[in-house]
Amino acid sequence: MRHYLDEETADLPEAIPERVLSLAVFFGAIVAWVTDHLPQGDSLTNVPCRRSPGRRRCRGEIVAELDRTSGHIVWHCPLCGDNGLIHGWEDTPWDRQHHPGAAPTSTSPATTH
Ligand SMILES: [Zn+2]
Repeated sequence: MRHYLDEETADLPEAIPERVLSLAVFFGAIVAWVTDHLPQGDSLTNVPCRRSPGRRRCRGEIVAELDRTSGHIVWHCPLCGDNGLIHGWEDTPWDRQHHPGAAPTSTSPATTH
């Protein structure tokens, strides 16, 4: 989901269309929940479904978990069946994983291999 981010600031661009922004917030909330609950995981998120089938807003709450073999976050709505997967979420602003070895207060950029 890095394509939502501005390349220079690595944050959401200011001129992002509202429809795209709401999708980014939706996926971002799922990523934040899943990474925040690692490593055990808590698949029942607090993220409300974004769909409105038949013009009535779906009242489902998204179920999501990290697929450790693919590295994708897979999600679905138990009510309407909407589903998908999120990849490229690592190191986005929503990635709340605690990187082992990194000091919690450190502000220095993380190194990648
Ligand atoms: Zn739904």
